[in-house]
Amino acid sequence: MSLATTEPAAATTTLDYDAIVIGAGMSGMYQLIRLRELGLSARVFEAGTGVGGTWYWNRYPGARFDSESYSYGFSFDEELLQEWEWSEHFAPQPETLRYLNHVADRHDLRRDIQFRSPVAAAHYQEASRSWLVTLADGSRHTSRYLITAIGALSAPTLPRIEGVDSFRGQAFHTAKWPHEPVDFAGKRVAVIGTGATGVQTIQEVAKTAGHLTVFQRTPNWCTPLHNRPITPEEQVRIKAGYDELFKRCAETFACFLHTADPRGTFEVTPEEREAFYEQLYATPGFAIWVGNFKDTLTDRAANKEISEFVARKIRQRVKDPRIADMLIPKDHGFGTRRVPQETHYYEVYNQPNVTLVDSKATPIQRITPTGITTSEADYAFDIIIYATGFDALTGAFDRIDIRGRDGLALKQKWAGGAQTFVGMLVQDFPNMFMLLGPHTALGNIPRSIEYNVEWVSGLLRHMQAHGQTFAEARPEAMRTWTEHVIACAEGLLTFEVDSWMTGVNSNVEGKQTRSIARYAGSAPAYRAWCDDVAAKGYPDLVLD
Ligand code: NAP
Repeated sequence: MSLATTEPAAATTTLDYDAIVIGAGMSGMYQLIRLRELGLSARVFEAGTGVGGTWYWNRYPGARFDSESYSYGFSFDEELLQEWEWSEHFAPQPETLRYLNHVADRHDLRRDIQFRSPVAAAHYQEASRSWLVTLADGSRHTSRYLITAIGALSAPTLPRIEGVDSFRGQAFHTAKWPHEPVDFAGKRVAVIGTGATGVQTIQEVAKTAGHLTVFQRTPNWCTPLHNRPITPEEQVRIKAGYDELFKRCAETFACFLHTADPRGTFEVTPEEREAFYEQLYATPGFAIWVGNFKDTLTDRAANKEISEFVARKIRQRVKDPRIADMLIPKDHGFGTRRVPQETHYYEVYNQPNVTLVDSKATPIQRITPTGITTSEADYAFDIIIYATGFDALTGAFDRIDIRGRDGLALKQKWAGGAQTFVGMLVQDFPNMFMLLGPHTALGNIPRSIEYNVEWVSGLLRHMQAHGQTFAEARPEAMRTWTEHVIACAEGLLTFEVDSWMTGVNSNVEGKQTRSIARYAGSAPAYRAWCDDVAAKGYPDLVLD
């Protein structure tokens, strides 16, 4: 039953919808399905022209999964699992976007999604205990609930470098890639950035570019993806094994298929260690990152061992020892930043059409109408690609004027660091539920999304059953959870390093120092905490 016209909680206002969802990526799509099942009216506002979120926007050359395809799809629809066939173990972006469009067709989602509709503001209305959402075109829409499905890595950032707008060639941020193909043949191409996106872009663009110049500020530890097509026999096994596969994902630390080895690095002999590292280096996907010895990311000496192993691999693969040395990280250990997964990435630097520029030693000073000027040289380009990342975790929230009780801005509430209850609610922002908000368990993202959606939907079901239309996190519950998130980060080498995971983005005002907006505990521990809240009848929330 719809609440919109029949049951306004604290006022007689008629609302447009029970729920407004911001974003039609995987979280918005799945939330819409669950809202319908609850009998709630919903409108999804999406900035793009199609569904897919991350996979709609990030259509840069070489974009593909870093998680095994079959561990990434939605798990809730058994028929969909059986009918969809992933072509490769790590599917390319066009296939993933096709998959998400297929899901939208299958569940007839588009009739409740309004495309080309970026949300500019969302203000809580105290008198009617509802939300007023204003789109960029000025149109206004009201709802009982506001559900943010805006992603953790969805606010792209360009470098704060003089002249970015002055370049007269083609320039693209990887997350705003055009829908038309871009031809690199014979062109002088620059890529700025060597994170997971830059690495995928570089290894693809290097295949056809006339000349590719890579501007690397901080090298990352990259390891082989080992992608390959899925054979017909594997397809049969995958389809027969989905229950087991998702059960396994639910049990691992970050919902990937790989799980940490229970042994400590120094519990085995150096020979056994080397053999294990070799085995992991030859294993597809994130095995070497999340399936390594249990102390790899907590014990400095253990971390040094694996770092030296990967450094040796880089030296073996890159012919010029000077270039190899430039590609080996010196300021952080293996796995303490997100590990880019690569396919012949290091070999790219053996090609005569590729140049690596150390933009820490020779910083980019300005973008000019014809190219890039560093402290050392002027470079001329036809195309500049910015693989410069995102204002992560809180950035997408900051870009919408979200205001809670008494006009309090969410950005102001989080000025001293994100505060949430289980990453899904914020005190002073009643009836706002965040999917993939800061402080939620990330990892293999669709697994996190499905859990967040299920938890929010369970809460809405509980509220329906009790005739409630108001939910707000209690301040003490938010404090406890936020302190827990901070405690989980203690002792992890990851939090001693600048990256989006520690809230640092040199291109965003006020984000130069580390903060803790990422939950670093295990996904099972996160779910146990949230499940317990639900089982006890949500004592941490004010429900009315
Ligand atoms: P990122 O990891 O934040 O990397 C941004 C890169 O741009 C870094 O190398 C950074 O250098 C560089 N950069 C930024 N501003 C610069 C400037 N002003 N001058 C020079 N260099 C600059 O962003 P990303 O590569 O887009 O990846 C973000 C996350 O998205 C990944 O960690 C991953 O979680 C996700 N992702 C997933 C997949 C997948 O699953 N298939 C693929 C791609 C991305 P510094 O390091 O020195 O700051």
